[in-house]
Amino acid sequence: MRQSTLFGRTLREAPAEAQTPGHRLMLRAAIARPLAAGLYTWLPLGFRVAKKVEQIIREEQDRIGAQEMEMPVLTPAETWKETGRWDALEPITFRTADHNGREFMVSYTHEEFVHLHAKQELQSYRQLPQIVYHFQSKGRDEARPRAGLLRAREFVMKDAYSFDADQTGLEKSYAAEHGAYERTFARMGLDAISVESDTGAMGGDVAHEFQVLTEAGEDRIAICPNCDYKANLEKASRSTDTYIAGATELPRPSEIATPSTTTIEALEASLKQPTTAFLKTLLLRDAKGTLVAVVLPGDRDINEAKLRKVLGTSEVKFANDGDFASAGSVPGFIGPIGLRVRTLVDRSVDGRPYIAGANKRDTHLRNVVKGRDFQGEQVDAHDVREGDLCPRCTVGKLSIKRGVEVGNIFAYGTYYSDKMNATFVAEDGTAKPFFGGSYGIGVGRAVQTIMETHHDEKGIVWPPQVAPFQAHLIALPVNDEDVRSKAEKLVDELERARVEVLYDDRDESAGVKFADADLIGIPLRLTVSARNLKQSQVEVKSRSAAAMEMVPLAFAAEKIAGIVRSWPR
Ligand SMILES: [Zn+2]
Repeated sequence: MRQSTLFGRTLREAPAEAQTPGHRLMLRAAIARPLAAGLYTWLPLGFRVAKKVEQIIREEQDRIGAQEMEMPVLTPAETWKETGRWDALEPITFRTADHNGREFMVSYTHEEFVHLHAKQELQSYRQLPQIVYHFQSKGRDEARPRAGLLRAREFVMKDAYSFDADQTGLEKSYAAEHGAYERTFARMGLDAISVESDTGAMGGDVAHEFQVLTEAGEDRIAICPNCDYKANLEKASRSTDTYIAGATELPRPSEIATPSTTTIEALEASLKQPTTAFLKTLLLRDAKGTLVAVVLPGDRDINEAKLRKVLGTSEVKFANDGDFASAGSVPGFIGPIGLRVRTLVDRSVDGRPYIAGANKRDTHLRNVVKGRDFQGEQVDAHDVREGDLCPRCTVGKLSIKRGVEVGNIFAYGTYYSDKMNATFVAEDGTAKPFFGGSYGIGVGRAVQTIMETHHDEKGIVWPPQVAPFQAHLIALPVNDEDVRSKAEKLVDELERARVEVLYDDRDESAGVKFADADLIGIPLRLTVSARNLKQSQVEVKSRSAAAMEMVPLAFAAEKIAGIVRSWPR
């Protein structure tokens, strides 16, 4: 490939909107370009990377016996309605209708449709287990698309679906996909760790995410240094000490005058007590508008994802002032005693006497004790933080790291089969539901995560397996007849040895050419120059190392082909 004809232009500076190092490099190195918010076009260099990433995913799916197929992007509303997801997914999906008014969703995922096919194609237990997958565009109407391909509104996803006769079979399929994911990410140069995750909109109980730790990520992951506990904060828990009350009877609640003191910080200052001495009561509305109160210790924050899961809702919002009156309270002085709404008590609240709002203007109560003075459903809805005790080993102190979710796997069992009446004939002749799982990897996000984690101050440093080309041959100067003819001969020899070469035949200075080579990040840089040719040599430099090597021109193609063959595949 001649660089002079390449469709795509490198940029000296990243546009101001670029949010992360990988996002900046993606734009500067002409990997992809935005078409609208969250919508990207792969330019030829990026397209080559995406296709290599896709091929690695494909090979690892094929290795575990999964079969590739393809389902459409437009998916009919009536099938989504069978599982209730037509309404549940409304806030984050694109919809359309045909000229007869029949409604469709731009596919968000394909559980419903693959179950529809399984009902038709898999009729007997003799046909199980099965895993099928496809690469297909997905639409997500993200309110805040972020950092280029990390959170886009349209992207290609590999989604795989397993069908088993029972739970044991499902566990085997899940383990096979888990192993395939470990190999897939390692092969594309990503150091992905498997963490426990929330099942979110997918349903079911068991789920893992594959997370690559990087500051560019928006997920927060709790990691125990002492055992193997790793969890997304949307799911993470912690070990709590149980407070043991003293032998003496605790005094009853009594009022304290707290004029205009409506926040924990203000109470802390005026009453000279630590935040842990207070109860924080939040009045919230779920997606249907139902009011709910959540009681937490004063030093703890709510984790919205955990609360949404507890409430089975897609959204929680703060209540308005009018809601406080209907809950029997006043804004700024809300507390758990005597509230007239469903009350959830976070499990971090222990048996100690707390200071809490009195549901009366300018008043708080001291000696408010859980169980004695107020009741509520015990839930886990608080945000785990740095230094909390690991819930598994109970001694390790959790650290919190940022990560990008590059893959996820869900074992949802009969969740979809039950709703869609998807059954097969079991060995005993009865109709049984399929046990299912789904397994996703976003191609674009994987490509950008590679850039987030493989770069230096000069540009991208592609892992060889996914690099757009394997060698970048630079001719200097290109208008020297001898240089050009020898460079072109070498390109020809390399291509015949199946080495992918980007040939920089542009009439540009050495400075511009080397800067672009570093920015684009192809693993091997070969320089054919008038100076090197005096010794009949070619300069060979690896993008990931500073050292250069001079190789006799006569053996260069053979030597480079040997290096390329030695790379991991
Ligand atoms: Zn631990």
